[in-house]
Amino acid sequence: MTSTSVPPPAFRTITAANPSPHTLNGTNTYLLGRGRVIVIDPGPDDPAHVGAVFEQITAGGGDLALILVTHGHADHLGAARALAAGGSARIRRWGAGDEPLADGETVEEGGVALRALYTPGHATDHLVFHWAAERVLFSGDLILGTGTVVLQPRDGALEEYLASLELVARLDLATIAPGHGPLIGDPAARIAGYLAHRRMREGQVLDALAGEARTPGEIVGVIYQDLDPSLHPAAENTVRAHLMKLVREGRARREGNRYHRP
Ligand SMILES: [Zn+2]
Repeated sequence: MTSTSVPPPAFRTITAANPSPHTLNGTNTYLLGRGRVIVIDPGPDDPAHVGAVFEQITAGGGDLALILVTHGHADHLGAARALAAGGSARIRRWGAGDEPLADGETVEEGGVALRALYTPGHATDHLVFHWAAERVLFSGDLILGTGTVVLQPRDGALEEYLASLELVARLDLATIAPGHGPLIGDPAARIAGYLAHRRMREGQVLDALAGEARTPGEIVGVIYQDLDPSLHPAAENTVRAHLMKLVREGRARREGNRYHRP
């Protein structure tokens, strides 16, 4: 007679074999439920990953019921078609897919109810999924397991990103399940840390403009001195997002590709 006190996990994680500086140890694909299974973020279009996800779904006698996608980047969406092929599972995401999801919409399969929340900033089509019953947030690339998130060099991206963080800060969470990296067990502290990090970067950008006009690339050289050079283009996108916010707020001015303090 044996017994175990370990409860079955509320969800399963399958990490794709696509590690990189942008994807950390790879994209996390999440499986919710055991019968009518929901997949969150199919992952990259890699046959080995698709096979591993199918294996996990069917090993327990389950069926793929629904595919949810946090955003349309290839490392999250890529495997959706291959995973859906031959079955009846719908692919649902923001602004595209079989039946576009609305902000605040609740989807339910196999007793699992998830609420989709529109959270742009990293991408214009970004959703997170809140599983209120388990107090889990599937955060996509809004919040990562380690490090911080790259922003789009798009006017308004930073303001949208900050609003998205403030939105999820109001949820009652025990766990954040990110698109990349390990599970986060201290959601409130992590979200507060992300907001503080963006304020810190804004201060650094302003400081970099204190003496002279600089290009975004020069600002990266000043404030990201320890960064792997392969990540400089991504850092420059984030700096541009900060500069656009500062210009809009009248705290920086742009002349050509150079920025200065007013
Ligand atoms: Zn990603």
